[in-house]
Amino acid sequence: MKPKVAFFDFTSCEGCQLDALNITGEELLDLANAVDIVNFREVKTDRSDDYDIAFIEGSISREAEIPRLQAIRNQAKVIVALGACACIGGVNCLKNHLPMEEALRIVYGEAAKYYDTIPARPINAVIPVDYYVRGCPPPTAEFLKVVKALLLGKKPDIPNHPVCVQCKMAGNVCVFERGMTCLGPVTRAGCDAICVTAGRICWGCRGLVDDPNTDSEKDILQKYGLTAEQVMEKFKIYDTYLEVMPK
Ligand code: SF4
Ligand code: SF4
Ligand code: SF4
Repeated sequence: MKPKVAFFDFTSCEGCQLDALNITGEELLDLANAVDIVNFREVKTDRSDDYDIAFIEGSISREAEIPRLQAIRNQAKVIVALGACACIGGVNCLKNHLPMEEALRIVYGEAAKYYDTIPARPINAVIPVDYYVRGCPPPTAEFLKVVKALLLGKKPDIPNHPVCVQCKMAGNVCVFERGMTCLGPVTRAGCDAICVTAGRICWGCRGLVDDPNTDSEKDILQKYGLTAEQVMEKFKIYDTYLEVMPK
């Protein structure tokens, strides 16, 4: 019997699910042979509430999402957080810096009274999570790596060193040398430092390494004459949840 797999989305742009659909060729055939996808709104209309593995995309930002997520946890043997919104709260948590009424007013204007919202949170703030597929969106290779590991009942080999390691391996000139700031020193690698290689900075979409080297971060700030505020501003994009916990 192949394990039955379901995909669910909560507050998200659905980019992580779309990216999972980018799997092609032999990898797609291997996946199709290994699992039975019984629930995936972007792919099929048939739906089943009988599944073993649930991939959850998105953060939790409405009260009504909490019981829905808990029901999925009760059904699934394995829960996988898919993408930055689900793993760390991600961009949805930016609103946590504001009173919720103000966030609603900014987005919906006069129609705000018709909507409800709560401070956004990652799914592990509501239910236990078994596996994490990190990134915004996650690299396809990492998605497949996690799927293979969970099918084998193993722990996936996800890097716990900073993006800087892969950035150096890619031969990039550090953006600090160009007067910019970057979260690579404290962000979990696994993306091949794709943003820096493309001429940008690391915004921290994969979340922090388990033991971020804050001394090294302070040294960098001192060396380049930067303030802690300049770096903290960058953390707001993906890591607000750590900074502003929901009430
Ligand atoms: S992690 Fe990024 S790509 Fe995925 S749902 Fe959230 S915003 Fe979209
Ligand atoms: S550009 Fe960013 S990721 Fe690359 S070495 Fe510098 S701080 Fe690290
Ligand atoms: S470089 Fe940083 S922001 Fe870009 S994908 Fe990697 S972790 Fe995410």
